[in-house]
Amino acid sequence: MPDSEIKKGGISVETQHIFPIIKKWLYSDKDIFLREIVSNASDAVTKLRRLCSLGEATVPEGEEFRIDVELDRNAGTVTVTDNGIGMTPEELEKYICSIALSGALDFISKYEKSESGDSAGSGIIGHFGLGFYSAFMVSDVVEIDTLSYAGGDAVHWKCGESGEYEITPSDRTERGTSVVMHITDEEKDYLNDYTLKRVLDKYCSFIPVPIYFSSLEDEDSDKDGKKDEEDKEKKPINDTTPLWSRPASEITDEEYTAFYHKLFTDPEDPLFHIHVNADYPLNFKGILYFPKIRSETQSLEGQVKLFYNQVFVADNIKEVLPDYLLMLRGALDCPELPLNVSRSYLQDSAYVKRIGQFIVKKTADKFNSLATSDREKYEAVFGDVRIFIEYACIRDRKFYDRIKGSVLLETTEGAFRTIDEYLETAKEKHENKIYYASDVTAQSNYVKMFRDAGIEVAVFDRIIDTQFM
Ligand code: ADP
Repeated sequence: MPDSEIKKGGISVETQHIFPIIKKWLYSDKDIFLREIVSNASDAVTKLRRLCSLGEATVPEGEEFRIDVELDRNAGTVTVTDNGIGMTPEELEKYICSIALSGALDFISKYEKSESGDSAGSGIIGHFGLGFYSAFMVSDVVEIDTLSYAGGDAVHWKCGESGEYEITPSDRTERGTSVVMHITDEEKDYLNDYTLKRVLDKYCSFIPVPIYFSSLEDEDSDKDGKKDEEDKEKKPINDTTPLWSRPASEITDEEYTAFYHKLFTDPEDPLFHIHVNADYPLNFKGILYFPKIRSETQSLEGQVKLFYNQVFVADNIKEVLPDYLLMLRGALDCPELPLNVSRSYLQDSAYVKRIGQFIVKKTADKFNSLATSDREKYEAVFGDVRIFIEYACIRDRKFYDRIKGSVLLETTEGAFRTIDEYLETAKEKHENKIYYASDVTAQSNYVKMFRDAGIEVAVFDRIIDTQFM
């Protein structure tokens, strides 16, 4: 290739500082690189889909939008290819070569000043998305090969650890982008099917574009081999329409239960679910499940997985839910949150607080609707959710006010009464009093006395019950 066609450059002086920091940053969570590169690929497809639906672009009929993640162990590379929007040479220079790093540079200046630089690492995530450049956490060389949907020249970019890059013309003919990551010796573990699949499974299970994984075996590394063809026939590794993205009215109970088991390893079925779908301004979707707690000593902590436009962000988001709802499990998709969200961000965000309040309200509504429209089921699960309801009522007066019509008392005879029902049946005999036994055996004489008098006695024999009363 004539020298005149080769462009060389260095990522601007300031941004060169970013490379050593990228390596240190997220030291404990390098897996994120794959999420960033695959979600960029997904964004590129989403953008092109949108242009197609607006009539501003067309793709050959019958062509499937897809993302391919390919491992080539011989070459030591992981390649992510999409057939999305692609980049023109100008766009590549604009979007990739000059990283919009104002936030990052701020951070770096702080980082350089601070003595305890290392521990600052985890906080950086929330402040800006390094996105593409996170590939350098695990690679010493990264290449991009891209062709824009709008035509023009295909272009190839290659950048080493020093931040020096080279742009050359490419002979690529397929629309879209390939990112080739040359994995460093220290991160060789990523040149492993199992590792890559584990990471894809964690972060990319619900990305809205089908993802195909293939691995070139050591022995047949020649690319035009038959194996490659077969691999491309395989099924996508992800589910592009997770249940929370579908209208609740179309989903059966069986599907909800199956989805729970897909998200969590729990031998028990959940007791019930809450499908949330909040419009503007909250704008989030999700499904929360009430797991069956097997014993009082079992950890009451569930797990809520946080997603950003179907990209997994984090687990066990204690910051989103009030403590008394922490036993809920499920998935929340919050496209209003940044993809790189830190715990401190979640703790301080007013938006996150409103999400929490919304979920509290939906949870109370769910109990109320079960109590009024499916009393049989409600009574059947009440024993399992009772501790939770009582605890929630103690912790949050508003929750209590919302739900008090649906709190059940279980009588010594095994019947369930709401407080109003109890007081109604007892109206003649005693006014506005609830009689309860804290130890049915020890108090059996009294229980019998009341029973003979036709007065029902509620069983409140756990520590929390008396506090609740
Ligand atoms: P962000 O995704 O947060 O904007 P990135 O550093 O990940 O930041 O990417 C910078 C930009 O590079 C993207 O906004 C996009 O314009 C472009 N880009 C990255 N990956 C791709 C891709 N696979 N296809 C097309 N454009 C891409």
